[in-house]
Amino acid sequence: MLKKHLFTKSWIPKNLNALLFCTLGTFLFLFSIRHLSFHYTPDEWALLGSMFAASLILYFYTFQIPPEGSKQSMDSAVYLACLFIFGTPAALALLLLSSLLFALFEQKVSWWKHLTNFSIYTIMIFGAGTVFHGLGGQLGQLQNGHLLSYVGALIIYFTLNVLCISIYYYMIDQSDIYRMLKGLLQESMLVYLCILILSLVLTILIVNNGITGLILFLGISIFLSHLFKKLFDMYLQLQERAIRDQRTGLFNHSYFESLLEKEIKFARSEGTPLSLAMIDIDDFKRYNDHFGHLQGDRLLGLLGSILKEEAAQAGITASRYGGEEFTLLMPGYSEQEALIFVNTLRKRVNDTPFEGVEVLPHACLSFSAGISGYHIDIHDKSMLVLQADQALYDAKKQGKNIAYINGSSVPLEQEIEIAQDVRDIEQLLNLFLYKDINTFKHSKRVFRYAMDMSLLLKLDAVTRRQFVLGALIHDIGKLEIPWEILNKRDSLTLTEWDVVKKHVNWGKEMAMTNDKFKELAPYIELHHERYDGTGYPHGYKAAEIPLLCRMLTIIDSFDAMTSERPYQATKSIEEAVKELRACSGTQFDPELSELFIQYIEGKSGPVPARGEHIVPSL
Ligand code: GH3
Ligand code: MG
Ligand code: MG
Repeated sequence: MLKKHLFTKSWIPKNLNALLFCTLGTFLFLFSIRHLSFHYTPDEWALLGSMFAASLILYFYTFQIPPEGSKQSMDSAVYLACLFIFGTPAALALLLLSSLLFALFEQKVSWWKHLTNFSIYTIMIFGAGTVFHGLGGQLGQLQNGHLLSYVGALIIYFTLNVLCISIYYYMIDQSDIYRMLKGLLQESMLVYLCILILSLVLTILIVNNGITGLILFLGISIFLSHLFKKLFDMYLQLQERAIRDQRTGLFNHSYFESLLEKEIKFARSEGTPLSLAMIDIDDFKRYNDHFGHLQGDRLLGLLGSILKEEAAQAGITASRYGGEEFTLLMPGYSEQEALIFVNTLRKRVNDTPFEGVEVLPHACLSFSAGISGYHIDIHDKSMLVLQADQALYDAKKQGKNIAYINGSSVPLEQEIEIAQDVRDIEQLLNLFLYKDINTFKHSKRVFRYAMDMSLLLKLDAVTRRQFVLGALIHDIGKLEIPWEILNKRDSLTLTEWDVVKKHVNWGKEMAMTNDKFKELAPYIELHHERYDGTGYPHGYKAAEIPLLCRMLTIIDSFDAMTSERPYQATKSIEEAVKELRACSGTQFDPELSELFIQYIEGKSGPVPARGEHIVPSL
């Protein structure tokens, strides 16, 4: 009989359907058992006892059938043989005894489930017995002249089994009964036919050879059961191979595609959130070029294992999309939740040491990620992928090692009035991509803060332009600082500090050589002045420092405090705000720092709707 469903799904006794089956089964059992005869010869008793033992043994030697691994046991062959030789009451008595013992063996399964299982068997045996006798079947020896009654009994036995299981589950979860019937038939038809035919073979064997025949039958069944188990294991291995990427151990592209389709359908029908993150390793080509593809493969393996571990704990499916690109399919995650997960993962990856990662621009293994969330307008899975890809592209453009939600990053070019100037400065900043990626990213973030602050400060168009461009270019002088100092991990010596401090002068000189950037020189030169006059290069104090330069100092310091660095702890927003307050009046202009804090805390009214308020890669 098909066993998988009854013993694998969770079951609640209050289900009416179980009650229905139990009532019907118990009634049929009591109705039939009245005719049970005890007038058997000693040989027949011995045979009945052996059949009982055989049914127990066969109960544990099940056949597992692909694709779901549903289990079928051969005990049906014994019940049917008993029915054909001794009649329905004897078969039911055998069933009762076996079921009681199964219940004892498997006490973890609730007694309701055992009773339901017993009842379904009873219905099947009763149905088969009724048809057998109705079609003129005679007990004992298999009679060639009555083949129709055997075939009829077997067909009814099988049909009742499939029907009972389908109805049972239809009543539990209202699943598509037609599909379930089809699935059950496809899955089990052949094995079931074997069992039915074997019941006739067993009848012949028992009638002619008694217990020896039964033992022969048991031998065949046990070997077959082993064989099926092996085949099923092989099937599982092959199936696993077909959906896994060998290099990383993650799921492969085709599995991801099929799962994505399913998850989108589910999100649409259930109205639950679903997010997708596309992940691409940063500057992987550079790593390959330095250390060769074999070492590159190892790095892929490392990232694969981190993704696998983190994803498994969070109910997320990680797949290798191709090359050095990965996907995280996140059912139940809103875009914001997905962003939090990806950023935590990114930080863990950043902080994981691996041979040679120092050659990479961030001096650590890093990836950029684009996140897209399912919404009602997404009618095709490729749209979700496309949107995540777009966000990934934006993340790469912002200097990598960042995660973006689709639509949240507004490309700088969209600020039309200053677009050309921004592009010009970006050309200069691109030099940082090789020298110091952190300055590249920092400049872009400071620019974004400056954009928001310029709106809050209600700057006129000309001042605004100067302020935001000044923010973008403020660290340009760092291009002159030697690479070793710029990327030094340990603390700088005093001499090295003196070199670093010169960047404000070098930057100013660079700006002065270009008519377009001359007016930005104060932002470059004065962003390290302090409100109390202890800054550099001039030691200007309070109002001696232009107001917007004072503002830039605050933004610059806040971003430096909150920006992420590999192998280093980052200040949280709260900690950075605390620090701003602590240094208000000494390092920072008190009024301006309060204004900035209000902006950061979202207290200063509706902050401009463009982009994020807090730059994502803090
Ligand atoms: P970006 O930060 O813009 O993503 O730069 P990138 O260098 O990571 O990206 P790019 O697309 O230029 O190069 C991807 C590289 O990934 C090129 C290819 O050699 C490498 N790659 C792809 N698949 C494998 C692989 O299975 N093993 C190894 N070792 N390298 C791979
Ligand atoms: Mg790529
Ligand atoms: Mg890449």
